[in-house]
Amino acid sequence: MIILNYHELSEQPPSNKWCLAREAFDIHLALCGDRIISPGKFLAHCDTPAGGRSDDVLITFDDGFLSDYTLAYEQYVATGCIPGFMSFIPLDFVGQPGRMSWRMIEELSRAGITIGSHGLAHIDLTKASDAELERELTVSKSMLEERLGQQVGLFAFPYGRFSRRVWEAALRAGYTQLYTIQLGHHGGFEPFLYSRLCMTSDFAVEQMRVHLADPDAMRGMAWQISSKLGIYRHLMLWRYR
Ligand SMILES: [Zn+2]
Repeated sequence: MIILNYHELSEQPPSNKWCLAREAFDIHLALCGDRIISPGKFLAHCDTPAGGRSDDVLITFDDGFLSDYTLAYEQYVATGCIPGFMSFIPLDFVGQPGRMSWRMIEELSRAGITIGSHGLAHIDLTKASDAELERELTVSKSMLEERLGQQVGLFAFPYGRFSRRVWEAALRAGYTQLYTIQLGHHGGFEPFLYSRLCMTSDFAVEQMRVHLADPDAMRGMAWQISSKLGIYRHLMLWRYR
């Protein structure tokens, strides 16, 4: 399976590269066709080898922007264009201008949108102190669980930045799936890591087409050689030590 990661959608021309015009998103959806699956289906199959290399595409949004509700949910999920998505929330931003309120997040959760944590203050966790790291992981998790009335086991690393210390702390905090920004199929180099392609407004449609045809196509020489030699995981464990 392939996981795509978006941030904000806009009816206006995008103001920064993390924001995507609605027309650009429509083109992406057209390229995906009927391959887009709900988070429920993804979660049911993400551990099974049979689901591992399928063509299915999962959509995720980070940062809790208002457009998760007003566009992704109201205009795409509620109208049947897409079967759902995952939304990763930085808790300190809830209710801020341009971000979703608790009421919206709770409604998304009730509607089958999978809500995950994106920490509290959206900081680079690799640079956080042990106490800060623990707080970002555990307080955001318990706040979401209290609001949504269900377990929250998914976490997305802010800025896609992580290390072994960060993922070990996240697993200790009770998360079971950790979402990164890396090329390739959904399964990362450790079973609890999930790779996503970050879709920015400067990402060309042709690149999207290539990625959907083969999510390994854009990977570099280091991946190609280390995969062939069977040492990719070891290389990554050393890199993120
Ligand atoms: Zn983020």
